[in-house]
Amino acid sequence: MLVVMQAHATAEDVRAVCEKIESLGYRAHPLPGAERTAIGITGNKGEIEPGALEEMPGVRELIRVTKPYKLVSRDIKEDNTVISFPGTDATFGGPGLAIVAGPCAIESREQAFAVAERVHRSGAQFFRGGAYKPRTSPYSFQGLEEEALRIMAEIREQFGLKIVTEAIDNESLELVDEYADVIQIGARNMQNFSLLKHAGRARKPVLLKRGMSATLEEFLMAAEYVMSEGNYQVILCERGVRTFADHTRNTLDLSLIPAVQRLSHLPILVDPSHGTGKRNKVTPLSRASVAVGADGLLIEVHCDPDKALSDGMQSLYPDQFDELMTQVRQIAAVVGRTVPAIGEHAEVGATSKPDTGLRAAR
Ligand code: PEP
Ligand code: MN
Repeated sequence: MLVVMQAHATAEDVRAVCEKIESLGYRAHPLPGAERTAIGITGNKGEIEPGALEEMPGVRELIRVTKPYKLVSRDIKEDNTVISFPGTDATFGGPGLAIVAGPCAIESREQAFAVAERVHRSGAQFFRGGAYKPRTSPYSFQGLEEEALRIMAEIREQFGLKIVTEAIDNESLELVDEYADVIQIGARNMQNFSLLKHAGRARKPVLLKRGMSATLEEFLMAAEYVMSEGNYQVILCERGVRTFADHTRNTLDLSLIPAVQRLSHLPILVDPSHGTGKRNKVTPLSRASVAVGADGLLIEVHCDPDKALSDGMQSLYPDQFDELMTQVRQIAAVVGRTVPAIGEHAEVGATSKPDTGLRAAR
C-alpha cells in the first residue's frame, strides 16, 4: 500500500501519517518526490484497512501496489532518485554521469595512489578498489582488508575522490561503512539477504551489482531488501551475466538499462570491465552504455595490468582511461548528459549529509 500525499501537505501531515502507520504495527517509508511525497507501507501480511489513513489531513489517495517490489518502484516515486555527496558536485542519477574508476584490488599504497592520481586527473569523481576480494579460488589474493580501507581514506583526503569499495560479509560491511563513501555489494552477494538487510541499516549509499544470473525482477527485489530496512540510497549496476557466449567473460546486458529505468526511480551504472573481461572491449561498451542512458560507469584501471593481482586482463592503462573519458564525454553531450573534465569536480563547498534529491523523470 502506498499513501500519496497532496502537493501542499506539510511536513507535519507526513509525520502524522507515518506515526499512524507505525502505530498500526507497520513500517512507514516516506519518499519525497518533485511534486509530492508518497509513503510506502511495508510489514503488512495482508490487506491494510484504508479507513484510518484516508481521512487524515494532507492525504490525497491510497494506492495498492501490485508489483512484488514497492520502494524501488516508480509507482512510489515518479522522478529519478539522485544521490549526492557533501562537499562535491558528484551525483549518481543527476545530469552529470558518475565515473567510478580504480584498480580491481588495492595491492599497495604506491599502486593505489598511482592509479588514483591518474583517474582523478582524467575526471573521475569516485575511486574504487577492492579491500575484500571475493575470489573464485581460496588461494588467490583476498585483499588487504582494513589496511586497504585506510589507504583509500588517505586517497580521499589527498584527491577529494569519493571511495567505493565492496563489503563481502556483515563484518566487513561495518568497516566499509566507517571508511568508505559508497558500500558495494558484489554480484556474488546480490542475493545474500542477510548482507542486504545489514546494508539497509548502514548510513552510506549502497552500490548493488547484478547477480551473474539474476533476472530484472530478482535484481530489483535485492534493492528492495536494502530499501525495506530504511536505506533509500541505492545505486544499481549492470556487470554482465553468464550466457553461452565465450568471446567475453560475461555478456553485458545493456537492454537492462532502459528496462530498469521504466520500472524504477533508482540510478543505474554499467561496469563494462567485468561485463566483458577484455581490455579492448571496455571503451566501445562504455560508449554504448552512455548512449543507452546509463547514469555512470565503473571502470577498472591499473598502471601495470600485467602485474595486477586480480582482473589485469580487463584493466585499462591510465592513458586508455583518459581516452575513454574523452570519448564518452562526446556521447554524453548527444544524450544531454555531462562527464566532468579534468578538475571540474573539485570541491564545491560543503553541503549536509548525503541526500536523496530529485531531477526530472526519464
Ligand atoms: C568488482 O567490482 O571488483 C567485482 C568483484 O565485481 P562483481 O561483483 O561484479 O564480480
Ligand atoms: Mn575486478
